[in-house]
Amino acid sequence: MNGDDFRRWARRAADWGADYLEGLRERPVRPAVKPGEVAAQLPAAPPEGAEDFAEIFADFERIVPRAMTHWQHPRFFAYFPANAAPASMVAEHLVNAMAAQCMLWETSPAATEMELRMVDWLRQALGLPEGMAGVIQDSASSATLTAVLTMRERATGWAGNEAGLAGQKPVRIYASAENHSSVDKAVRVAGIGQANLVKVATGPDHAMDPDALRDAIAADRAAGMLPGGVVLCAGGTAIGAFDRIAESVAVAREADLYTHVDAAWAGSAMICPEFRHLWAGAEQADSLVFNPHKWLGAQFDCSVQFLADPKPQLRTMGLRPDFLETLHEREVVNLNEWTVPLGRRFRALKIWFLVRAYGLEGLRERIRNHVAWAEMAAERIGAMEGFEIVTSPSLSLFTFRLAAGDEATRRLIEAINADGRIYLTQTSHKGQFVIRFQVGQFDCTREDVETAVAVIAELAQG
Ligand SMILES: *Cc1c(COP(=O)(O)O)cnc(C)c1O
Repeated sequence: MNGDDFRRWARRAADWGADYLEGLRERPVRPAVKPGEVAAQLPAAPPEGAEDFAEIFADFERIVPRAMTHWQHPRFFAYFPANAAPASMVAEHLVNAMAAQCMLWETSPAATEMELRMVDWLRQALGLPEGMAGVIQDSASSATLTAVLTMRERATGWAGNEAGLAGQKPVRIYASAENHSSVDKAVRVAGIGQANLVKVATGPDHAMDPDALRDAIAADRAAGMLPGGVVLCAGGTAIGAFDRIAESVAVAREADLYTHVDAAWAGSAMICPEFRHLWAGAEQADSLVFNPHKWLGAQFDCSVQFLADPKPQLRTMGLRPDFLETLHEREVVNLNEWTVPLGRRFRALKIWFLVRAYGLEGLRERIRNHVAWAEMAAERIGAMEGFEIVTSPSLSLFTFRLAAGDEATRRLIEAINADGRIYLTQTSHKGQFVIRFQVGQFDCTREDVETAVAVIAELAQG
Protein backbone atom coordinates (compact mmCIF):
# COMPACT_ATOMS: atom_id res chain seq x y z
CA MET A 1 0.00 0.00 0.00
CA ASN A 2 1.66 3.22 -1.11
CA GLY A 3 0.97 6.70 0.22
CA ASP A 4 -1.81 7.42 -2.25
CA ASP A 5 -3.52 4.11 -1.56
CA PHE A 6 -3.31 4.75 2.16
CA ARG A 7 -4.87 8.18 1.73
CA ARG A 8 -7.66 6.75 -0.40
CA TRP A 9 -8.56 3.86 1.87
CA ALA A 10 -8.16 5.79 5.10
CA ARG A 11 -10.62 8.37 3.71
CA ARG A 12 -12.93 5.61 2.63
CA ALA A 13 -12.79 4.12 6.14
CA ALA A 14 -13.57 7.51 7.71
CA ASP A 15 -16.56 7.97 5.38
CA TRP A 16 -17.71 4.46 6.06
CA GLY A 17 -17.60 5.22 9.80
CA ALA A 18 -19.70 8.36 9.45
CA ASP A 19 -22.31 6.53 7.33
CA TYR A 20 -22.33 3.66 9.78
CA LEU A 21 -23.00 5.92 12.76
CA GLU A 22 -25.74 7.82 10.91
CA GLY A 23 -27.49 4.61 9.93
CA LEU A 24 -27.35 2.87 13.29
CA ARG A 25 -30.99 3.39 14.28
CA GLU A 26 -32.06 1.44 11.18
CA ARG A 27 -30.09 -1.63 12.23
CA PRO A 28 -31.10 -4.21 14.83
CA VAL A 29 -28.97 -3.65 17.94
CA ARG A 30 -27.86 -7.26 17.90
CA PRO A 31 -27.22 -9.28 14.74
CA ALA A 32 -29.32 -12.25 13.78
CA VAL A 33 -26.30 -14.50 13.15
CA LYS A 34 -25.80 -18.07 14.23
CA PRO A 35 -22.55 -19.32 15.78
CA GLY A 36 -20.11 -20.25 13.00
CA GLU A 37 -21.72 -18.08 10.32
CA VAL A 38 -18.84 -15.62 10.12
CA ALA A 39 -16.14 -18.26 10.36
CA ALA A 40 -17.75 -20.09 7.43
CA GLN A 41 -17.15 -17.03 5.24
CA LEU A 42 -13.43 -16.80 6.04
CA PRO A 43 -10.93 -18.93 4.09
CA ALA A 44 -9.34 -21.60 6.25
CA ALA A 45 -5.81 -20.71 5.10
CA PRO A 46 -4.06 -17.32 4.59
CA PRO A 47 -3.35 -16.07 1.05
CA GLU A 48 0.18 -16.56 -0.33
CA GLY A 49 -0.08 -13.60 -2.64
CA ALA A 50 -1.23 -10.02 -2.13
CA GLU A 51 -4.91 -9.39 -2.65
CA ASP A 52 -6.59 -6.36 -4.11
CA PHE A 53 -7.50 -3.87 -1.41
CA ALA A 54 -10.85 -3.08 -3.02
CA GLU A 55 -11.74 -6.71 -2.56
CA ILE A 56 -10.58 -6.72 1.05
CA PHE A 57 -12.70 -3.67 1.81
CA ALA A 58 -15.71 -5.12 0.01
CA ASP A 59 -15.41 -8.32 2.04
CA PHE A 60 -15.38 -6.28 5.21
CA GLU A 61 -18.59 -4.52 4.20
CA ARG A 62 -20.20 -7.78 3.20
CA ILE A 63 -19.22 -9.93 6.20
CA VAL A 64 -18.54 -7.84 9.27
CA PRO A 65 -21.09 -5.09 10.03
CA ARG A 66 -24.10 -7.39 9.78
CA ALA A 67 -22.48 -9.72 12.30
CA MET A 68 -21.68 -7.07 14.89
CA THR A 69 -23.48 -6.17 18.08
CA HIS A 70 -23.77 -2.40 17.72
CA TRP A 71 -22.47 -0.87 20.93
CA GLN A 72 -22.93 2.67 19.64
CA HIS A 73 -26.59 2.01 18.82
CA PRO A 74 -28.78 4.54 20.67
CA ARG A 75 -31.08 1.73 21.85
CA PHE A 76 -28.30 -0.30 23.47
CA PHE A 77 -29.54 -0.76 27.06
CA ALA A 78 -27.52 -3.91 27.85
CA TYR A 79 -24.50 -4.39 30.16
CA PHE A 80 -22.95 -0.96 30.60
CA PRO A 81 -22.26 1.34 27.66
CA ALA A 82 -18.91 1.46 25.85
CA ASN A 83 -19.39 4.94 24.47
CA ALA A 84 -17.13 6.24 21.75
CA ALA A 85 -18.05 9.84 21.09
CA PRO A 86 -17.09 10.82 17.52
CA ALA A 87 -14.54 13.33 18.84
CA SER A 88 -12.70 10.52 20.60
CA MET A 89 -12.84 8.39 17.46
CA VAL A 90 -11.09 11.17 15.54
CA ALA A 91 -8.35 11.17 18.20
CA GLU A 92 -7.99 7.41 17.77
CA HIS A 93 -7.58 7.86 13.99
CA LEU A 94 -4.61 10.13 14.69
CA VAL A 95 -3.18 7.79 17.32
CA ASN A 96 -3.45 4.96 14.79
CA ALA A 97 -1.54 6.96 12.22
CA MET A 98 1.33 7.79 14.60
CA ALA A 99 1.29 4.24 15.99
CA ALA A 100 3.66 5.03 18.84
CA GLN A 101 4.60 2.72 21.68
CA CYS A 102 4.45 5.03 24.67
CA MET A 103 6.15 2.94 27.36
CA LEU A 104 8.63 5.63 28.40
CA TRP A 105 8.64 9.42 28.36
CA GLU A 106 11.45 9.20 25.82
CA THR A 107 9.49 6.92 23.48
CA SER A 108 6.69 9.48 23.26
CA PRO A 109 7.05 12.64 25.33
CA ALA A 110 3.67 14.08 24.25
CA ALA A 111 1.83 10.91 25.27
CA THR A 112 3.30 10.85 28.77
CA GLU A 113 2.90 14.54 29.46
CA MET A 114 -0.62 14.67 28.07
CA GLU A 115 -1.56 11.57 30.07
CA LEU A 116 -0.49 13.18 33.32
CA ARG A 117 -2.39 16.35 32.47
CA MET A 118 -5.54 14.52 31.35
CA VAL A 119 -5.57 12.39 34.50
CA ASP A 120 -5.41 15.62 36.44
CA TRP A 121 -8.23 17.17 34.38
CA LEU A 122 -10.38 14.17 35.20
CA ARG A 123 -9.37 14.30 38.87
CA GLN A 124 -10.70 17.86 38.98
CA ALA A 125 -13.79 16.91 36.98
CA LEU A 126 -14.63 14.20 39.51
CA GLY A 127 -14.03 16.45 42.51
CA LEU A 128 -11.10 14.40 43.81
CA PRO A 129 -8.44 16.04 46.00
CA GLU A 130 -5.41 17.81 44.63
CA GLY A 131 -2.31 15.66 44.75
CA MET A 132 -4.01 12.43 43.74
CA ALA A 133 -1.87 11.08 40.91
CA GLY A 134 -2.95 8.64 38.24
CA VAL A 135 -2.30 6.57 35.18
CA ILE A 136 -4.40 5.39 32.23
CA GLN A 137 -4.70 1.62 31.90
CA ASP A 138 -6.43 -0.57 29.34
CA SER A 139 -9.21 -1.79 31.61
CA ALA A 140 -10.56 -1.66 35.13
CA SER A 141 -9.57 -5.30 35.51
CA SER A 142 -5.93 -4.34 35.03
CA ALA A 143 -6.18 -1.47 37.50
CA THR A 144 -7.82 -3.71 40.09
CA LEU A 145 -5.11 -6.32 39.54
CA THR A 146 -2.35 -3.77 40.15
CA ALA A 147 -4.14 -2.59 43.31
CA VAL A 148 -4.50 -6.17 44.58
CA LEU A 149 -0.84 -6.87 43.82
CA THR A 150 0.06 -3.75 45.79
CA MET A 151 -2.10 -4.99 48.69
CA ARG A 152 -0.27 -8.32 48.58
CA GLU A 153 3.20 -6.77 48.51
CA ARG A 154 2.43 -4.25 51.20
CA ALA A 155 1.03 -6.97 53.47
CA THR A 156 4.01 -9.28 52.96
CA GLY A 157 6.54 -6.48 53.44
CA TRP A 158 7.38 -6.70 49.73
CA ALA A 159 8.48 -10.31 50.09
CA GLY A 160 6.04 -11.77 47.54
CA ASN A 161 7.74 -10.27 44.49
CA GLU A 162 11.18 -11.50 45.60
CA ALA A 163 10.58 -14.85 47.20
CA GLY A 164 7.11 -15.84 46.03
CA LEU A 165 4.24 -16.59 48.35
CA ALA A 166 5.36 -20.01 49.57
CA GLY A 167 5.85 -19.92 53.32
CA GLN A 168 3.88 -16.67 53.67
CA LYS A 169 0.81 -16.49 55.84
CA PRO A 170 -2.30 -16.30 53.62
CA VAL A 171 -2.94 -12.75 52.40
CA ARG A 172 -6.63 -11.84 52.84
CA ILE A 173 -8.57 -9.44 50.63
CA TYR A 174 -12.05 -8.17 51.55
CA ALA A 175 -14.90 -7.24 49.19
CA SER A 176 -18.65 -7.68 49.02
CA ALA A 177 -20.41 -10.02 46.62
CA GLU A 178 -21.67 -6.95 44.71
CA ASN A 179 -18.18 -6.43 43.30
CA HIS A 180 -17.30 -7.28 39.73
CA SER A 181 -15.71 -10.63 38.89
CA SER A 182 -12.48 -8.76 38.06
CA VAL A 183 -11.81 -8.78 41.82
CA ASP A 184 -12.06 -12.58 41.88
CA LYS A 185 -9.80 -12.75 38.85
CA ALA A 186 -7.27 -10.41 40.47
CA VAL A 187 -6.89 -12.51 43.62
CA ARG A 188 -6.45 -15.60 41.46
CA VAL A 189 -3.85 -14.03 39.20
CA ALA A 190 -2.05 -12.46 42.16
CA GLY A 191 -1.52 -15.91 43.69
CA ILE A 192 -3.63 -14.97 46.70
CA GLY A 193 -6.31 -17.48 45.81
CA GLN A 194 -10.07 -17.33 45.62
CA ALA A 195 -10.36 -18.86 49.09
CA ASN A 196 -8.63 -15.79 50.53
CA LEU A 197 -11.07 -13.33 49.01
CA VAL A 198 -13.44 -12.75 51.90
CA LYS A 199 -16.93 -11.82 50.70
CA VAL A 200 -18.13 -9.55 53.48
CA ALA A 201 -21.87 -9.47 54.18
CA THR A 202 -24.00 -6.66 52.79
CA GLY A 203 -26.93 -4.91 54.45
CA PRO A 204 -30.40 -4.21 53.05
CA ASP A 205 -28.92 -1.25 51.10
CA HIS A 206 -26.63 -3.75 49.25
CA ALA A 207 -23.61 -2.03 50.84
CA MET A 208 -20.86 -3.91 52.62
CA ASP A 209 -21.53 -3.84 56.36
CA PRO A 210 -18.57 -1.93 57.91
CA ASP A 211 -18.98 -3.77 61.22
CA ALA A 212 -18.87 -7.11 59.46
CA LEU A 213 -15.70 -5.92 57.70
CA ARG A 214 -14.09 -4.96 61.01
CA ASP A 215 -15.01 -8.35 62.51
CA ALA A 216 -13.71 -10.28 59.51
CA ILE A 217 -10.35 -8.51 59.62
CA ALA A 218 -10.01 -9.09 63.38
CA ALA A 219 -10.95 -12.75 63.09
CA ASP A 220 -8.40 -13.31 60.33
CA ARG A 221 -5.64 -11.58 62.30
CA ALA A 222 -6.47 -13.69 65.33
CA ALA A 223 -6.25 -16.78 63.13
CA GLY A 224 -2.72 -15.84 62.03
CA MET A 225 -3.59 -14.64 58.56
CA LEU A 226 -2.39 -11.46 56.78
CA PRO A 227 -5.19 -8.99 56.00
CA GLY A 228 -4.00 -7.06 52.94
CA GLY A 229 -6.68 -4.78 51.58
CA VAL A 230 -10.28 -3.92 50.91
CA VAL A 231 -11.90 -3.52 47.48
CA LEU A 232 -14.95 -1.28 47.62
CA CYS A 233 -17.75 -1.09 45.15
CA ALA A 234 -19.03 2.23 43.80
CA GLY A 235 -21.68 1.14 41.34
CA GLY A 236 -21.63 -2.65 41.08
CA THR A 237 -22.26 -4.33 37.76
CA ALA A 238 -25.35 -6.36 38.61
CA ILE A 239 -27.59 -3.73 40.23
CA GLY A 240 -25.36 -0.68 40.73
CA ALA A 241 -24.69 -1.25 44.44
CA PHE A 242 -22.64 1.31 46.38
CA ASP A 243 -20.66 0.46 49.49
CA ARG A 244 -20.60 2.96 52.34
CA ILE A 245 -17.16 4.05 51.23
CA ALA A 246 -16.24 6.58 53.94
CA GLU A 247 -17.09 4.21 56.79
CA SER A 248 -15.45 1.22 55.11
CA VAL A 249 -12.27 3.16 54.31
CA ALA A 250 -12.13 4.23 57.96
CA VAL A 251 -12.38 0.59 59.09
CA ALA A 252 -9.64 -0.40 56.65
CA ARG A 253 -7.42 2.45 57.76
CA GLU A 254 -7.83 1.50 61.45
CA ALA A 255 -6.49 -1.92 60.51
CA ASP A 256 -3.73 -0.44 58.28
CA LEU A 257 -5.19 -2.00 55.14
CA TYR A 258 -4.87 -0.65 51.60
CA THR A 259 -8.12 0.38 49.89
CA HIS A 260 -9.20 0.29 46.24
CA VAL A 261 -12.53 1.64 44.97
CA ASP A 262 -14.01 0.12 41.81
CA ALA A 263 -16.11 2.83 40.18
CA ALA A 264 -15.59 1.51 36.65
CA TRP A 265 -19.07 2.45 35.50
CA ALA A 266 -20.40 4.98 38.03
CA GLY A 267 -17.22 7.07 38.23
CA SER A 268 -18.18 8.99 35.09
CA ALA A 269 -21.36 10.23 36.79
CA MET A 270 -19.25 11.96 39.42
CA ILE A 271 -18.56 14.79 36.98
CA CYS A 272 -22.01 15.86 38.26
CA PRO A 273 -21.59 17.16 41.82
CA GLU A 274 -25.12 16.09 42.81
CA PHE A 275 -24.19 12.38 42.52
CA ARG A 276 -20.98 12.54 44.57
CA HIS A 277 -22.73 11.79 47.85
CA LEU A 278 -23.05 8.22 46.54
CA TRP A 279 -19.30 7.65 46.76
CA ALA A 280 -18.51 9.97 49.67
CA GLY A 281 -15.17 8.82 51.04
CA ALA A 282 -13.78 7.74 47.67
CA GLU A 283 -11.45 10.72 47.90
CA GLN A 284 -9.81 9.03 50.91
CA ALA A 285 -9.11 5.72 49.18
CA ASP A 286 -5.56 4.66 48.30
CA SER A 287 -6.58 3.64 44.78
CA LEU A 288 -9.65 4.25 42.64
CA VAL A 289 -10.53 3.19 39.12
CA PHE A 290 -13.11 4.48 36.66
CA ASN A 291 -13.57 3.82 32.96
CA PRO A 292 -13.98 6.88 30.74
CA HIS A 293 -14.55 4.21 28.07
CA LYS A 294 -17.84 3.25 29.63
CA TRP A 295 -20.16 6.16 30.27
CA LEU A 296 -18.04 9.26 29.62
CA GLY A 297 -17.48 8.79 25.88
CA ALA A 298 -13.78 7.98 25.45
CA GLN A 299 -13.36 5.20 22.94
CA PHE A 300 -12.46 1.81 24.41
CA ASP A 301 -9.91 1.29 25.90
CA CYS A 302 -9.43 3.94 28.53
CA SER A 303 -9.45 3.20 32.25
CA VAL A 304 -8.11 5.74 34.74
CA GLN A 305 -6.59 4.67 38.03
CA PHE A 306 -6.10 7.37 40.65
CA LEU A 307 -3.60 6.87 43.46
CA ALA A 308 -3.37 8.87 46.68
CA ASP A 309 0.32 7.92 46.83
CA PRO A 310 1.81 6.12 43.82
CA LYS A 311 4.87 4.88 45.76
CA PRO A 312 3.48 1.53 46.99
CA GLN A 313 2.24 0.66 43.50
CA LEU A 314 5.52 1.75 41.90
CA ARG A 315 7.43 -0.35 44.40
CA THR A 316 5.22 -3.30 43.46
CA MET A 317 5.10 -2.86 39.68
CA GLY A 318 8.24 -0.87 38.88
CA LEU A 319 11.05 -2.73 37.22
CA ARG A 320 13.73 -1.01 35.20
CA PRO A 321 16.00 -3.36 33.28
CA ASP A 322 19.15 -1.85 31.74
CA PHE A 323 17.70 -1.60 28.26
CA LEU A 324 15.00 0.76 29.49
CA GLU A 325 17.43 3.19 31.11
CA THR A 326 17.10 6.62 29.51
CA LEU A 327 18.47 10.11 29.93
CA HIS A 328 16.25 12.58 31.81
CA GLU A 329 15.25 9.80 34.18
CA ARG A 330 15.17 12.13 37.14
CA GLU A 331 12.96 14.70 35.45
CA VAL A 332 10.32 12.45 33.91
CA VAL A 333 7.75 9.81 34.79
CA ASN A 334 7.90 6.46 32.99
CA LEU A 335 4.34 5.23 33.27
CA ASN A 336 5.07 1.59 32.39
CA GLU A 337 6.48 1.31 35.90
CA TRP A 338 2.93 1.77 37.27
CA THR A 339 1.28 -1.14 35.42
CA VAL A 340 1.53 -4.77 34.35
CA PRO A 341 2.16 -4.27 30.59
CA LEU A 342 5.32 -2.56 29.43
CA GLY A 343 3.82 -1.38 26.15
CA ARG A 344 1.40 1.52 26.30
CA ARG A 345 -1.02 3.06 23.81
CA PHE A 346 -1.47 6.83 23.52
CA ARG A 347 -4.82 6.90 25.31
CA ALA A 348 -4.77 10.46 26.59
CA LEU A 349 -5.41 12.07 23.19
CA LYS A 350 -9.02 10.88 23.06
CA ILE A 351 -9.71 12.37 26.49
CA TRP A 352 -8.21 15.67 25.36
CA PHE A 353 -10.43 15.70 22.26
CA LEU A 354 -13.52 14.47 24.10
CA VAL A 355 -13.43 16.92 26.98
CA ARG A 356 -12.64 19.87 24.73
CA ALA A 357 -15.21 18.99 22.05
CA TYR A 358 -18.13 18.63 24.48
CA GLY A 359 -16.95 20.51 27.53
CA LEU A 360 -17.65 19.09 30.97
CA GLU A 361 -21.08 20.71 30.83
CA GLY A 362 -21.95 18.84 27.61
CA LEU A 363 -20.85 15.55 29.16
CA ARG A 364 -22.77 16.25 32.38
CA GLU A 365 -25.94 16.99 30.47
CA ARG A 366 -25.86 13.54 28.85
CA ILE A 367 -25.37 11.76 32.15
CA ARG A 368 -28.11 13.78 33.84
CA ASN A 369 -30.48 12.92 31.00
CA HIS A 370 -29.64 9.23 31.24
CA VAL A 371 -30.36 9.19 34.97
CA ALA A 372 -33.64 11.07 34.51
CA TRP A 373 -34.77 8.80 31.64
CA ALA A 374 -33.90 5.66 33.63
CA GLU A 375 -36.12 6.94 36.43
CA MET A 376 -38.88 7.60 33.91
CA ALA A 377 -38.53 4.09 32.43
CA ALA A 378 -38.56 2.46 35.88
CA GLU A 379 -41.70 4.36 36.80
CA ARG A 380 -43.49 3.34 33.61
CA ILE A 381 -42.41 -0.30 33.73
CA GLY A 382 -43.28 -0.50 37.43
CA ALA A 383 -46.79 0.73 36.60
CA MET A 384 -47.33 -1.92 33.92
CA GLU A 385 -49.61 -4.87 34.72
CA GLY A 386 -47.62 -7.96 35.67
CA PHE A 387 -44.26 -6.18 36.01
CA GLU A 388 -42.16 -5.61 39.16
CA ILE A 389 -39.23 -3.30 39.65
CA VAL A 390 -36.75 -5.46 41.60
CA THR A 391 -34.05 -2.85 42.25
CA SER A 392 -34.86 0.81 41.77
CA PRO A 393 -32.56 3.05 39.73
CA SER A 394 -29.01 3.36 40.96
CA LEU A 395 -28.00 6.31 38.77
CA SER A 396 -29.21 5.00 35.38
CA LEU A 397 -29.48 1.26 36.13
CA PHE A 398 -32.49 -0.64 37.44
CA THR A 399 -33.76 -4.21 37.26
CA PHE A 400 -37.24 -5.61 36.70
CA ARG A 401 -39.01 -8.92 36.25
CA LEU A 402 -42.40 -10.36 35.46
CA ALA A 403 -44.44 -11.26 38.53
CA ALA A 404 -45.21 -14.54 36.77
CA GLY A 405 -41.69 -15.74 37.65
CA ASP A 406 -38.24 -16.61 36.33
CA GLU A 407 -39.39 -18.64 33.33
CA ALA A 408 -41.73 -15.94 32.06
CA THR A 409 -39.02 -13.31 32.60
CA ARG A 410 -36.50 -15.43 30.71
CA ARG A 411 -38.94 -15.83 27.81
CA LEU A 412 -39.50 -12.08 27.77
CA ILE A 413 -35.83 -11.19 27.47
CA GLU A 414 -35.38 -13.81 24.75
CA ALA A 415 -38.25 -12.24 22.83
CA ILE A 416 -36.83 -8.73 23.35
CA ASN A 417 -33.41 -9.68 22.06
CA ALA A 418 -34.73 -11.70 19.13
CA ASP A 419 -36.82 -8.66 18.14
CA GLY A 420 -33.72 -6.48 17.74
CA ARG A 421 -35.19 -3.00 18.28
CA ILE A 422 -33.56 -2.80 21.71
CA TYR A 423 -30.95 -4.84 23.59
CA LEU A 424 -31.13 -5.74 27.29
CA THR A 425 -29.24 -8.23 29.45
CA GLN A 426 -30.07 -10.18 32.57
CA THR A 427 -28.56 -10.96 35.96
CA SER A 428 -29.63 -12.77 39.06
CA HIS A 429 -30.55 -10.92 42.20
CA LYS A 430 -31.24 -12.73 45.47
CA GLY A 431 -31.86 -15.91 43.54
CA GLN A 432 -34.28 -14.33 41.07
CA PHE A 433 -33.81 -13.96 37.34
CA VAL A 434 -34.03 -10.23 36.59
CA ILE A 435 -33.65 -8.02 33.52
CA ARG A 436 -31.19 -5.11 33.73
CA PHE A 437 -32.14 -1.82 32.12
CA GLN A 438 -29.33 0.68 31.79
CA VAL A 439 -29.57 4.04 30.00
CA GLY A 440 -26.19 5.38 28.95
CA GLN A 441 -25.53 5.34 25.24
CA PHE A 442 -24.03 8.64 24.14
CA ASP A 443 -26.61 9.40 21.40
CA CYS A 444 -29.62 7.93 23.18
CA THR A 445 -32.66 10.21 23.29
CA ARG A 446 -35.72 10.29 25.51
CA GLU A 447 -37.63 8.86 22.54
CA ASP A 448 -35.30 5.86 22.38
CA VAL A 449 -36.06 5.13 26.03
CA GLU A 450 -39.80 5.52 25.40
CA THR A 451 -39.48 3.12 22.46
CA ALA A 452 -37.76 0.64 24.74
CA VAL A 453 -40.60 0.76 27.27
CA ALA A 454 -43.14 0.34 24.47
CA VAL A 455 -41.26 -2.64 23.00
CA ILE A 456 -41.11 -4.31 26.41
CA ALA A 457 -44.85 -3.77 26.93
CA GLU A 458 -45.67 -5.05 23.44
CA LEU A 459 -43.55 -8.20 23.68
CA ALA A 460 -44.84 -9.06 27.15
CA GLN A 461 -48.31 -9.33 25.57
CA GLY A 462 -47.14 -11.82 22.95
C1 LIG B 1 -17.19 -3.01 33.61
C2 LIG B 1 -16.75 -3.16 35.01
C3 LIG B 1 -15.51 -3.73 35.33
C4 LIG B 1 -14.61 -4.31 34.28
O1 LIG B 1 -14.12 -3.32 33.47
P1 LIG B 1 -13.04 -3.64 32.33
O2 LIG B 1 -12.52 -2.29 31.99
O3 LIG B 1 -13.79 -4.30 31.23
O4 LIG B 1 -12.01 -4.53 32.91
C5 LIG B 1 -15.13 -3.77 36.65
N1 LIG B 1 -15.94 -3.31 37.61
C6 LIG B 1 -17.15 -2.77 37.36
C7 LIG B 1 -17.98 -2.25 38.47
C8 LIG B 1 -17.59 -2.68 36.05
O5 LIG B 1 -18.78 -2.15 35.78
